[in-house]
Amino acid sequence: MTVTLQTSSRNSHSSFSALPQVRNAIRLGGEWVHGEGKLYTVTNPATGELVQEINQASAEQAKQAIDLAYTAWRESEWRTCYPHDRALVLHQIAGLIDDNLERLAWIQTLNTGKTLKETRALVGSAAKTFRYYAAAVETQEGTLTTQRGPWQTQTTFEPLGVVAAITPWNSPIASDAQKIAPALAAGNAVVVKPAEWTPLISMALMELVTQSDLPDGLVTILPGKGSVIGDVITSHPKVSKIAFTGGTSTGRRIAHEAAERLIPTTLELGGKSPTVVLEDANLEQALQGVLYGIFSSSGQSCIAGSRLFVHQSLYREFVEELVRRTTALNIGPGTDPDTDVGPLVHTRHRDSVAAYVERARAEGGTVLCGGRVPADPALAAGSYYEPTIIEGLTNSSLTAQEEIFGPVLVCIPFADEEDLVEQANDTVFGLAAGIWTPNFFRAQRLAERIDAGTVWINTYKQFSISTPFTGFGDSGLGLDKGRAGLAEYSKRKSLYWGTSEEPMSWGKHG
Ligand code: NAP
Repeated sequence: MTVTLQTSSRNSHSSFSALPQVRNAIRLGGEWVHGEGKLYTVTNPATGELVQEINQASAEQAKQAIDLAYTAWRESEWRTCYPHDRALVLHQIAGLIDDNLERLAWIQTLNTGKTLKETRALVGSAAKTFRYYAAAVETQEGTLTTQRGPWQTQTTFEPLGVVAAITPWNSPIASDAQKIAPALAAGNAVVVKPAEWTPLISMALMELVTQSDLPDGLVTILPGKGSVIGDVITSHPKVSKIAFTGGTSTGRRIAHEAAERLIPTTLELGGKSPTVVLEDANLEQALQGVLYGIFSSSGQSCIAGSRLFVHQSLYREFVEELVRRTTALNIGPGTDPDTDVGPLVHTRHRDSVAAYVERARAEGGTVLCGGRVPADPALAAGSYYEPTIIEGLTNSSLTAQEEIFGPVLVCIPFADEEDLVEQANDTVFGLAAGIWTPNFFRAQRLAERIDAGTVWINTYKQFSISTPFTGFGDSGLGLDKGRAGLAEYSKRKSLYWGTSEEPMSWGKHG
């Protein structure tokens, strides 16, 4: 059934004209159709107000969507056309994102609570991701290897088919773009399942994709709950790859499914990243870097620097100044340009963060600042939580071991490099780390010794789409981004070209 495009009459906010125009609909088989799953109400985490109602996809629709995506992929020229022709369409999508930057940033702020400053940067990075993969696919090189016999070997790339892209709620447009762009560049179809709490930006992105020259049906958006449609998607026989970003337990479940079906999967999972301040660090730089590393995005970041290790010689002075600066941060709605720390994505998530802090207290931790819902009545209807700094716990405490995914920092002093490396690596995660020191040799040594897929030295939480991103241990499997990330969305095929006119010398005729 084709659905008439209309905006929600129940919107209670005048700025909501910026919302996706498609309501009660999911994108399936190149059409907007009525979602037959549960009605989900998206609320603004800054105010608790209704933003939009979404009719989610049912399990049956998810199954049908993948069948249709597969048919669209088989029948379209996308999988066989020249890479530079695909690149043109990716550039078009990038242009559409740029043209709608303010609107997309606004939608993401309404849905996630992030500050507009941050969502503008995320939308800009999504456009750049499409451009990067346009360039990457246009300049992708197969290999021709040195001959080892009377044949020449050549490696080529072929699309996989239907890629399932499953994304979390914390930075949806960036996660969507990092999967959709390389998947399309490599000639695949993509079925995107955004997190239940944050479907709006994916739907708005889908609206833009439909304005490009991408053949119909190659991108599908399935808003819906992971527990209802997740397994349907990951177990569908026509899904050829699962690209997942989310929590470790969901990732492990998906890895089991992928192993069962022997299909490739990329898992970007959680973290509990150490940030290290050595005794010779530039303190001003380190203070700002630590603050940004944990409290930007209200700590809802897989790479948040949530374990702080400070050399014991400057521990007290450093932590006191950190607390002073943290209590001075502005908490408020993401739409206010003065806001440093916005609300958490959902009241349920805020309550989970609060429960972690209560457990930290029960473990014997001292809450140096924050540790509560703000008292300001103007913030009472939102899902705010004060930026929180805790000390007095060891690295083996649950608070220092488990991912809280909120604005909560645990501070731990260290005595020397051995002590530091042992504590920093005493975690199931291995996503990121930060090192603050002007000493190149120490930084290099520590970067090599700390088990993390990304190490920032005298900076933190900076990203380049051209640099591969990966996590060790419970932080993930496979890699994203960069040229290597593009190859993850292809089958690599080896061709052997015989170069001799002689018959093969084998058997009694050879
Ligand atoms: P999550 O609960 O694992 O959910 C991630 C996605 O998986 C959502 O779309 C979710 O849908 C879906 N899902 C749930 N159950 C599923 C199933 N059985 N099959 C298939 N999909 C299923 O994680 P989250 O709470 O949204 O996100 C926070 C986590 O993501 C944190 O651990 C964070 O560290 C991690 N993360 C990692 C990176 C990275 O690059 N390493 C980046 C960002 C976030 P529903 O929302 O409907 O449940």
